[in-house]
Amino acid sequence: MQHSDTSTLMENESLNPFLIAQKQIDKAASFLSLPRHVVEILKKPKRVLAVTFPVKMDSGEIRVFEGYRSQHNDAIGPTKGGIRFHPDVTLDEVKALSMWMSLKCGVVGLPYGGGKGGVICDPRTMSTGELERVSRGFMEAIADIVGPDKDIPAPDVYTTPQVMGWMMDTYSRLKGSYSPGVITGKPLILGGSKGRNQATAQGCIYTIEEALKELNLPPEKATVAVQGFGNAGRIAAGLLAEMGCKIVAVSDSSGGIYDAEGLDLERIGALKDNSSILEYGESCRITQNALLELDVDVLVPAALENVITSSNANRIKAKIIAEAANGPTTPEADQILAEKGILVIPDILANAGGVTVSYFEWVQNLMNHYWTEEEVIGKLKGIMVTSYHEVRKIATEYKTDLRTAAYMISLLRINEAMEARGWV
Ligand code: GLU
Repeated sequence: MQHSDTSTLMENESLNPFLIAQKQIDKAASFLSLPRHVVEILKKPKRVLAVTFPVKMDSGEIRVFEGYRSQHNDAIGPTKGGIRFHPDVTLDEVKALSMWMSLKCGVVGLPYGGGKGGVICDPRTMSTGELERVSRGFMEAIADIVGPDKDIPAPDVYTTPQVMGWMMDTYSRLKGSYSPGVITGKPLILGGSKGRNQATAQGCIYTIEEALKELNLPPEKATVAVQGFGNAGRIAAGLLAEMGCKIVAVSDSSGGIYDAEGLDLERIGALKDNSSILEYGESCRITQNALLELDVDVLVPAALENVITSSNANRIKAKIIAEAANGPTTPEADQILAEKGILVIPDILANAGGVTVSYFEWVQNLMNHYWTEEEVIGKLKGIMVTSYHEVRKIATEYKTDLRTAAYMISLLRINEAMEARGWV
């Protein structure tokens, strides 16, 4: 989707997320003796639905929106994954994101397969009423294939708890019964879980803590740059600052700001809500690309795909890259980062906290019994820390990177489920 500089990309380097996901699966499968047909099944989604739906805009004009839902694999359980609202959504992107969800659920051991949805639209230019009608229209269009034990959506880029609330309401009305388990990331009053909003960032922080320990780097000595100031990036920056790290740079889609002495996150939060983070100060402005190349200890890409490619990987100086976003690094960049000895905590592990607490939300919905925030965060920490070390162990054993190791763990789990079902 986004990338730094196509003109200097390595020859044959694809920025198509679907082809990238397939390449990553092939690499991990090459370490395992999985039958060819198993790899073939996993390299494509099981089912993809493309929809169009009309929405009346505030001007009175009727606009036809386009969206997708991809269900990658449901051997382990119902498919699970967010819905993205973004102008650059493509079918191949949604397919890749659904594959990454299967692998993500596998690596942290959730009883789900992977799914993902996307609608081509720009919520930044839509009124609340328009956003509500698009949310309800999309849910109506996909209602036949989702459900609490079929496929369970959640938030993703530019979708919020309120969007989840509208979608849950539409689904419940269509089915004629209250169905909170059809979607996660809902407002608390509609069966949302305590801790869900910060879960992606919180989970990411737990993996960063383990990586810092591995490098013998105390958090109080670590400098951090965060690319993306949405749900994941903004909360991650705050939590890292609480841990004692110095946040020297952040950015959003409008650009970045940098101060080697550390940024005032509270002020940036207020600027984000009321005007633009760029108002922080003219002299502090940097480009998103420059942010990625800063001499920091920890880099957190928390926006979109393909920001670290062969064209800039060589210039990355961070010691740890924690992928809060999905798909920020291309396979070619991965290779370069590995050669430079940079520790990459892959997306399917680093950002698995979101879907983990989504799973807790779904369990609470099915039980109709709710946990305290301490219970939720305590269980999340246990899963993230254990998963990090499981992945590290395989990476060390097979002398490979954490991404490949995480894929290996997942592929084996999914294969075991497919075998037990008698599919392969
Ligand atoms: N969209 C998030 C992700 O990419 C969360 C998915 C979920 O909670 O189901 O992991």
